[in-house]
Amino acid sequence: MWWKEPVTSIRGIGNKKAADLAALNIYTVGDLLEHYPRQDSYTDFSKVKNIGELATDGSKQLFKATVYQVKDGFNGRRRYTVVTVRDETGYANVYFFMGQRFMARKYKPDTTLLITGRIKGGRAAKMVSEATCIVIENDFEQALGILPNYHLAGNLTQKNLQAWIKTALAKAEQELPESLPASIIKKCNLPDRVSALKNIHFPQSWQALSEARKRFIFEELFLLQCGLLYYRSKNQEARQGLKHGVDGEKLREIIKALPFELTPAQKQAWLDISLDMQDVKPMHRILQGDVGSGKTVISALALAKAAENGYQSCIMAPTEILAVQHYETLSEYLAPFGVRVALLTGGMRAKERRNLLEELELGIIDVLVGTHALLQEDVRFAKLSLVVTDEQHRFGVEQRAKLANKSDYAPDVLIMTATPIPRTLALTVYGDLDVSLMKGRPPGRKPVQTLCYTEEKRNEVYAGVVRQVEAGRQAYIVCPLIENSEVLNARSAENVYDELMQSHFKNIPCALLHGRLKGAEKDAIMEGFSRSEIKVLVSTTVIEVGVNVPNATLMVVENAERFGLAQLHQLRGRVGRGSEQSYCVLLTPSDSPETLARLQVLRDSDDGFYLAEKDLEQRGAGQLFGMRQHGLPDLRIADILRDTEVIVQARNMAQSLIKNEAEWQEMLEFVKLQLDDRFQMIFNV
Ligand code: ADP
Ligand code: MG
Repeated sequence: MWWKEPVTSIRGIGNKKAADLAALNIYTVGDLLEHYPRQDSYTDFSKVKNIGELATDGSKQLFKATVYQVKDGFNGRRRYTVVTVRDETGYANVYFFMGQRFMARKYKPDTTLLITGRIKGGRAAKMVSEATCIVIENDFEQALGILPNYHLAGNLTQKNLQAWIKTALAKAEQELPESLPASIIKKCNLPDRVSALKNIHFPQSWQALSEARKRFIFEELFLLQCGLLYYRSKNQEARQGLKHGVDGEKLREIIKALPFELTPAQKQAWLDISLDMQDVKPMHRILQGDVGSGKTVISALALAKAAENGYQSCIMAPTEILAVQHYETLSEYLAPFGVRVALLTGGMRAKERRNLLEELELGIIDVLVGTHALLQEDVRFAKLSLVVTDEQHRFGVEQRAKLANKSDYAPDVLIMTATPIPRTLALTVYGDLDVSLMKGRPPGRKPVQTLCYTEEKRNEVYAGVVRQVEAGRQAYIVCPLIENSEVLNARSAENVYDELMQSHFKNIPCALLHGRLKGAEKDAIMEGFSRSEIKVLVSTTVIEVGVNVPNATLMVVENAERFGLAQLHQLRGRVGRGSEQSYCVLLTPSDSPETLARLQVLRDSDDGFYLAEKDLEQRGAGQLFGMRQHGLPDLRIADILRDTEVIVQARNMAQSLIKNEAEWQEMLEFVKLQLDDRFQMIFNV
């Protein structure tokens, strides 16, 4: 396949140019063809004016003229180069500053230029600023039409890329098979592959461009959806599901013995899960609930249900601290009723670990709690029926599958997350996934009061921490960094810890917690904190997810401006877990109105879903939800927030396609015809 050849197979691309292309992630001819121009960055050269026709209103326009003279000048502030151009209808002065002067000075009189720029009136000639020029050589008609503007790197020029892509397009015209089923092209009214490729680079018209884009956006999302369906059909539906019985005596007792009554939202979630588990079809459910909404107890019930039915289950947490905490909570809720809970961590002694794994394989352990350590090959269950992952946005598709594959049957899968996932993303990343949403919190807890202070209040804030400790409470101080950094100007946990130990907190038991400590050290510290031996925990965001110490009533976040809203909300969720009034203080050295306004949003809202939306608005989807983070290929042209409708359409198409064996086989062949290998990775797992 010619499109898999390296770029150097194109004439004019040597090692140097290839290196520049590599900086754009372009290695093959196919990559080159998939280097789509940025949206809205095409220039319409089909509407070229002469100088007389230019409106002098400061708008950006395009005209053709001949170089008359080139001069350097100085306007009292800056040096500039002015290129005077003319045609039969008049003169124009094109101004260049800084680095652009270098190019401009090389223009020779009588060269014909195509110029875009902002046009204003002048005394004798029109004035052109922010100009881009293209030297027109013999093939003027090449320049006419709608031309692409590409992302560049190194010494690459637009002209380079245009020429190479044209060469590649010529190959495509000779031989490039269609990559979507004919039925779908027809149903969705999409242009064929070759003309779409031609039109996305060198559009015949704006209409043709928009249709070409539509096709590639669809194709990308369609492949993704097909991949997810394929993946699911291979990894799950191939195996038989397991059926759990209706809730029995043991579950009723466990629920009765809980230290609280379940909220209506919790009851509903439990009903959803319970019914799913009773169905032979494997459960595939995500439990979304804001921080502190009480998800853990729901998972406890599900794990108990598996045990009640004589099966094993496991729950995987993203950090060791969390795993330990779950282990403790689950032991408290379940052990008195004969459910055998065990903890598997990375730092276990070999002998201990061997014993545990043996018991697991013999079916002596009912519920296994752990971190990524659960994924290891030698962790084998006798009869696994339920897999729970907590705070799942940290786990990828593959990791979840690995866990679910530890059973001959397709186990029920429950994913718990406090990160609200927009519906479209849920569809994209998880394919068809049922959602239980728990809004609100258990009663009896006062909302956390959030305060936002700049530097000068720092001492008062620390004095406030001391007061809380004197009142018998505990506090977190969260910093963005572990140790001081030369690049980032932010307070580090080590630094803050040292400083406070010598000043405000001299007489207070404090500890420093961060991700670089060993597992056992972290455990000991968390242990001490939850037993209230340690009063103040200076920490990084390792405590972000799930940690539950109800006696902690104050959180101070240093350099709060460095965190996203959703993350701050997660952090804030560590306090306000008991009945006492809790506080979250956001400290920032910045007094920029934007920063303060952003932090105000957090002060005024306690709704994680609302905050996540705000975060999306402010930071864009890419930052928050990297596709790679989910073990999925990056999207090149589709945008999961913008292209919602196409996602739904692509999903419907994919679902009906998978039902037709012949068409589905054809589709799998099409995946191999893609210009790059991005999608093969989901089809290969
Ligand atoms: P998250 O959803 O963030 O994982 P947790 O499961 O850690 O929340 O629960 C937060 C706190 O709320 C825990 O201390 C838990 O014991 C308590 N809790 C959970 N459900 C209820 C309830 N129905 N009534 C009162 N407290 C509850
Ligand atoms: Mg939790």
